[in-house]
Amino acid sequence: MSVQSVLDTIKENSIQFVDFRFVDLSGRAHHITLPATEVDAETFVNGVAFDGSSIPGFRGIEQSDMVMMPDTESVYVDPFTDHPTLNVMCNIYTPDGERYDRDPRSIAQKAEEYLQTTGIGTAAFFAPESEFFIFDDVRYESSMNTSFYTVDSEEAAWNTARKEEGGNLGFKVGVKGGYVPVAPVDAQQDIRSEMVRLMQEAGLRVERHHHEVATAGQAEINFRFDTLTKTADNLLKYKYIVHNVARQYGKVATFMPKPLFGDNGSGMHVHQSIFNGDSPLFYEKGAYANLSEMAMHYIGGILHHAPALIALTNPSTNSFKRLVPGYEAPVNLVFSKGNRSAAIRIPVAAVTPKGCRIEFRTPDSTANPYLAFAAMLLAGLDGIKRKIDPTALGYGPYDKNIYELSDEEKKEIRSVPGTLNEALDALEADSAFLTEGGVFSQDFIDNYVAFKRQEAKSVDIRVHPHEFSLYFDC
Ligand code: GLN
Ligand code: MG
Ligand code: MG
Ligand code: MG
Repeated sequence: MSVQSVLDTIKENSIQFVDFRFVDLSGRAHHITLPATEVDAETFVNGVAFDGSSIPGFRGIEQSDMVMMPDTESVYVDPFTDHPTLNVMCNIYTPDGERYDRDPRSIAQKAEEYLQTTGIGTAAFFAPESEFFIFDDVRYESSMNTSFYTVDSEEAAWNTARKEEGGNLGFKVGVKGGYVPVAPVDAQQDIRSEMVRLMQEAGLRVERHHHEVATAGQAEINFRFDTLTKTADNLLKYKYIVHNVARQYGKVATFMPKPLFGDNGSGMHVHQSIFNGDSPLFYEKGAYANLSEMAMHYIGGILHHAPALIALTNPSTNSFKRLVPGYEAPVNLVFSKGNRSAAIRIPVAAVTPKGCRIEFRTPDSTANPYLAFAAMLLAGLDGIKRKIDPTALGYGPYDKNIYELSDEEKKEIRSVPGTLNEALDALEADSAFLTEGGVFSQDFIDNYVAFKRQEAKSVDIRVHPHEFSLYFDC
């Protein structure tokens, strides 16, 4: 959209405010609002100033002046404000007019530019399946004490449900019992539909919504694939709408990967493929899962770099509480068609040549999508450039349930890192694929690792409720 069309949109929709947004290191959005009367063509040239020193993971106090440069492609009318407001995503620039090398959105754009310079393809497409829980506000408060965030058994889940709904034990979702039963078991159809309605109004093309596998309140809404930065923008819009509709219903939504011990967590599987113009480059009829050699090498790159990559796709201490066996979250660094226990699945049902893609199942929604998509693309491109053959390296295909392999067979299989610190170790040891083409800077990676190590430490030094059941009576 041109600047003029944005200004026309402001007029036509009687917009009173324009909300300028950017993302921090962790992927959280921040905003500064200008009255529409203060916004003109100049605003899109000069940008909007803000204080970078107050944003976690950005600049020191001595270099605080930063500039948000609006991207006119990203505007949508905010569905929640009382006063008509237009939201616009921005890139971050230094006062000297340089792209700020810690700005996640600029990194995402650089990754797309880099793809074009490789000559491998013209565009990479991404589609995330971002799962989340909708909890009663009460339950969220209660989740701060041990009795609620532990779901050891179906009985415990039912007890939780009973407390919430006043003694009724009928039509409750049991542990891992949430996959698509109709109402009244699924009590959240209307909330999800309202989320979808607002997403559509805000320009997302939504394909479906459903209750997810975990006990009461796990949800998933799928929107259509798009190019890298656009999809990351879409994911921010998605999370914003999910959080705010939940609030309108007196609930809270969380994308935390593992809020309930003992039940499924929330993942963000990411489907991806590369095109050259209109031609899909991942499809080859008759090959394994109809995947081209290029797609195989892309898989090789992702799996080879996975331990480091996971520091960006699963960047929270809680991420690693999801990546354990038994909950449909991947633990094994292998690929397979159809098999949901593999880190990479190749969907085969109802897939057309253009829909041919790989699904990396490890990520979760604590990932900053700009960084995570960029990093996955770079890992895959490195695999293509170096012709990394995943089969020769022992990454599969494994077409049976990996959870049920013999110990001997399992020995051959590499696993995801067990903690955030292990993933950060892997990232420190393997980051050249990210600095390729100048997409990530070394300064970015060093700063990111330090920032995340601090976060891991802040969790480690706190007393955990479970320590009381283990040690209190010693
Ligand atoms: N919730 C599962 C995960 O953590 C995925 C379940 C599914 O989509 N089949 O990845
Ligand atoms: Mg899904
Ligand atoms: Mg799902
Ligand atoms: Mg999936």
